[in-house]
Amino acid sequence: MRLVILGGGESGIGTAILGKKKGYDVFVSDFGKIKGNYKEVLSLNSIPWEEEKHTEDLILNADVVMKSPGIPDKSPIVKKLVEKGVSVMSEIEFAAPFTNATIIGITGSNGKTTTTMLTYHLLKSAGVNVGLGGNIGKSFAWQVADNKFDYYVLELSSFQLDGVFNFKPHIAIITNISPDHLDRYEYKYENYIDSKFRITMNQTEGDYLIYDADDEAISNWLTTHQTKAKLIPFSLTKTFNEGAYIIQNKMEIKINREDFSMDTEHIALEGKHNMKNAMAATSVAKLMQIRKATIRESLSNFQGVEHRLEKVLKIQNIQYINDSKATNVNATFFALDSMNAPTVWIVGGVDKGNDYNELMSLVREKVKAIVCLGVDNKKIIDAFGNVVDMMVEVTSMSDAVRMAQRLSEKGDTVLLSPACASFDLFESYEDRGKQFKQAVKSL
Ligand code: ADP
Repeated sequence: MRLVILGGGESGIGTAILGKKKGYDVFVSDFGKIKGNYKEVLSLNSIPWEEEKHTEDLILNADVVMKSPGIPDKSPIVKKLVEKGVSVMSEIEFAAPFTNATIIGITGSNGKTTTTMLTYHLLKSAGVNVGLGGNIGKSFAWQVADNKFDYYVLELSSFQLDGVFNFKPHIAIITNISPDHLDRYEYKYENYIDSKFRITMNQTEGDYLIYDADDEAISNWLTTHQTKAKLIPFSLTKTFNEGAYIIQNKMEIKINREDFSMDTEHIALEGKHNMKNAMAATSVAKLMQIRKATIRESLSNFQGVEHRLEKVLKIQNIQYINDSKATNVNATFFALDSMNAPTVWIVGGVDKGNDYNELMSLVREKVKAIVCLGVDNKKIIDAFGNVVDMMVEVTSMSDAVRMAQRLSEKGDTVLLSPACASFDLFESYEDRGKQFKQAVKSL
């Protein structure tokens, strides 16, 4: 069987290693450049590869193709493969049949990484032999090749889910759905929603789907479609006989006739959105019958993930917070919502079709000054010009931070939560967050 891999990144190299181990004739092709250490791995495993081109003769004779999630279905080489009837799949689809491990799959528009890391932390602290993969860290396929784990917690993007056909997680989580990446979905929101729900399409009785019952898109889908998985809802506003909710500052989880209760003030993560993430992750821990004391301890010592509402420093009693990963309006909504001091807000970047009206009442209530950090700030200025008294434009992170310091006083918070992608001024959201932290430290 000939396995062709399009894209020589982490998932591609991992799949190559697994495919080779399972006896496939493997070839890796990348239209861009492959990182040096990956090339070494391929050579060490005698796997042929090419870069900066796709040689059709070497690709179109594949029996199976694994495509990196970054390559759109519209790309010419993928179209040709599909026309030929070759099955083009994601790393997750290719690798899952080669492991007997139990899989917990986590998707959603926001909160995937936080929920995945917290779930992993809960299981790992309880001594479960668990691996972490998908969009995070080491490739899932690579770990399957090493055959080390009994459980995996996988962060799954919609692009990865587009390439699954038989994949079935035992426990699935959909954290929430709001419009994102629509350029890859013919600008149809319903296509993007359907893509997220691929996580449950092969689930059967005995499997679970944990989901945000406050989310309109999710609730609508569930009333018009079917899944065989048992539904475990979580909510900030409703209560359930079976599910997770917050009431009187307590997180309550009721699953399989067992109760778990914890004061939210003892949960280290902050903000309403993080209570949702905590409910989702704790529901997994309860389904896996982790001891209550262990869950409590893990929830109280999990400090969150870099670039997600990350507290950087307090300088002259002004708190600086890095939420660079907020690349859409929904993420920024929850960031602003969780601010409890007058806020100087650093916002802007590459707009993905943002509707800033959704933030209007929060901005009115919480934001005292706005620092616009982007190449094109017009939409932000138009939206908030009449709402916020102080508004300035800058074009570098160090200027943004210095300006924010000047505009703030004791007791305030400076929040970087851009609501936009980072590619106008930065390499990535990580680069943007790192530059922010650097600039804060040099104050
Ligand atoms: P993802 O992996 O889905 O991008 P992250 O956990 O990295 O999600 O969080 C991305 C951004 O969304 C951060 O700014 C974070 O503060 C915010 N966020 C985290 N969880 C949620 C949630 N449940 N709902 C809305 N926003 C969230």
